[in-house]
Formats: sequence, structure tokens, C-alpha cells
Amino acid sequence: MRQLILIRYGEIYLKGLNRPYFMHALVERVKQAVRPFGGKVWLHDARIFVSDMTDMDACMTAVSKVFGVHSLCPAIEMEKADFNAVCEKAAEMMQGLTGTFKVDSRRSDKRYPMTSPEINMEAGGYILHHTQGLTVDIHHPQHVMNIEIRDNAYLYVKVIEAVGGMPVGTGGKATLLLSGGIDSPVAGYMIGKRGVEISAVHFHSYPYTSERAKEKVITLAKQLSEYCCGIRLYVVPFTEPQLTIHEKCPEEYGTLIMRRFMMRVAARIAGKEGARALVTGESIGQVASQTIEALCCTDAVAGMPVFRPLIGNDKIEIIRIAEKIGTYETSCLPYEDCCTVFTPRHPATHPKLDHVEKAESCLDIEGLVNACVEGAELLEV
Ligand code: ATP
Ligand code: MG
Repeated sequence: MRQLILIRYGEIYLKGLNRPYFMHALVERVKQAVRPFGGKVWLHDARIFVSDMTDMDACMTAVSKVFGVHSLCPAIEMEKADFNAVCEKAAEMMQGLTGTFKVDSRRSDKRYPMTSPEINMEAGGYILHHTQGLTVDIHHPQHVMNIEIRDNAYLYVKVIEAVGGMPVGTGGKATLLLSGGIDSPVAGYMIGKRGVEISAVHFHSYPYTSERAKEKVITLAKQLSEYCCGIRLYVVPFTEPQLTIHEKCPEEYGTLIMRRFMMRVAARIAGKEGARALVTGESIGQVASQTIEALCCTDAVAGMPVFRPLIGNDKIEIIRIAEKIGTYETSCLPYEDCCTVFTPRHPATHPKLDHVEKAESCLDIEGLVNACVEGAELLEV
């Protein structure tokens, strides 16, 4: 007898001929998550199992963060020959639960001497007589004791919800503009959940932004990488463009011109990473640079699609996701971001593209962008 984790996947199941490709990707991602716990991962009968891990709880937490995993069940694998022992174990696993239950059995070994309805009846009766506070309800039970008869017997009751989505790497690559705020880690999580492999770019303006602000972003990237299977984070020195914009451009366009620089630099880094899109945490109307007109002005220089998964979300909804994925507390640490340095008193909220282009035409755009790309520090988190 041994403890296992039984993994269920959701959307992949809907795939037709491509299913083996997605399954293979998922198994690889599960293996990666389980590696620190020394677990063994295998695929059997369209189910993924993990066994022989050093720390069951920590391993389950890691697996629950793998995109593509819909839910997981701590399970027991035991000899199927001794049905009485199976019933005893089932009752033991139901101890402490109250309310209604049923037994749901599946038998892929058709030579097994009992049919599924017989297993349900026998095991159900045993559980009823050897536990307290449980009654049977076969239509709407609160708890389901699953018994699967395959090469061995597999028993599980508890179902733990996982993140869902698609395995990382099956959805191409994108580059996330990662600030220290609440929104951008959530945006990265949402795109990563669709199977997209993520690299990240962070702009910092030392000494206007501190070393601690940079550390905070590294922490956020680490938290995100627990879902995204590692992130290559580029930290870009951004003081020079910011000072130059501040000095030479009309104040009302300052933020917008700065954001256009961010897009250009991020797109260049995306190109190096083989990424085909940029991702930001913007949402319509959140601040002056996130009106539709302003977003059009920033998109104009990206040269690739810019995905904004939070575009229609309220702040409160974004915060809820940030709490769920565990980035909220870090995001709330009070360190400054380069966007908050030199903010104009009256930013243009309905900018016209030709006005913005004119306002930045005095700058050596290529030179400034090149310096940012060349000065970027790469961290693997
Ligand atoms: P966040 O959106 O992460 O909470 P924020 O609310 O301060 O940060 P803005 O400053 O309006 O948002 O920035 C909008 C988006 O621009 C961010 O979601 C992020 O994608 C990108 N961004 C802002 N500042 C930076 C930065 N310093 N480095 C990288 N990307 C940034
Ligand atoms: Mg924001």
C-alpha cells in the first residue's frame, strides 16, 4: 500500500488529435514541479500519478500550481485481491467526515470478480457501518468515495482544486512588462495560464527608484515563476530616457512618451526571446495613460500584439486574483516605481498620435532604446 497523488486535467481532455502533444507537455510540467520532492510521475489510463514523494503536502501544493492541472486527489494504491481490506481502508479514509456520501467505483479490469454496482453496494454498506455521522445519498452526496479497480485498487475522497488552464509552453511565448504593482503579476498569471511561456522586463530608474524596489520585483517574478515554470527577467536601466524626456519633452506627454519607450525596449527584448507578443497589466481608465486614446499611442510603437488580460477588470477583481495567487502582499510593499517618478501634474488623457510623435521628435529614440537594451541585466528566476 502506498500514497499517491492522482491528477485530473480539464481542458486538455477536449483536444482531439492534438491531445497527446498537450498530455506530454503537462506530464513534463508536473515532473518539473515534483522534482524537489523526488517524486515519480507516470501516465496510466489517461490519468497522471505521482508517487514516492518525500513531502506529500508540499508536493501537492506544487502540483496544484501547474497550469493544465484541474484538480488533484490524495489517493491510496493497494492490492485489489483482498476486497475486505479495500473496504477497511475506504472506511478509514471516510472517518471524521459527516453528512451524505456515496461510493463511486470504476472497474477497468473486467476480470475482477465484482461488478461496479456490487462494489458500490458492498463498500458503501461497510463504510456506513464502520463510521459515524454519515448517511447515503446516491444522487447529491457531499462526499464521494472513489474506488478504481485497475492493475491495483485506487481509493480517493478528497478533491483539491488546482489552477486549471493549459500547460506552459503549449501557447507560445510572450514578454510581460512587470512593474512592482498589483496588476502586472496578475496579467502575467492570466496569460501564463493559457499555456504561454513568459519572460519579463522591469524598468528601474536608480537612484530615483531604490534597490529595494528592484528586489521587490524579483520577489514577484519568483512568485509568478512558481506557476510559469521559471521566468527570465530583464532589469532595464531606465534613468537616462526618463531624465531626457523630463528635460526635453512637453510635460503633459511625459508619461505617454515614457510608456512608448517601455514598449519599444520590451519589444526588442521580446524579439531576442523569440516572444511574439507583449503583456501589460493595464485596464481601461485606471490612470491617464490607460484611456483608449493613450493605449493607441503606446501600441503604435510596439510592432507586435499587446495583450492586456485585465483590460475590463475592476481593481477589486484584480486584487482578489492577486490574493489568490499570492502576489498581493509583495505588491503592496511601499516602494516607488519609475512610473511615479516625474509624473506630470496634468497628463494628456485624450492624446493624439501625431502630437505625441511631434513631442518626442527631439529625442534620439534609437540611441536611448539601444542603451536600454544593451544595459539590461538578465536574471533567471
Ligand atoms: P501595476 O499595473 O503592475 O499595478 P501600476 O498600477 O503602477 O502597476 P501603471 O504604472 O499604470 O500601473 O503601469 C501600467 C502597466 O505598465 C503595468 O501593468 C506594467 O505592465 C507596465 N509597467 C509600469 N511600470 C513598469 C515598470 N517599472 N517596469 C515594467 N513594466 C511597467
Ligand atoms: Mg495598473
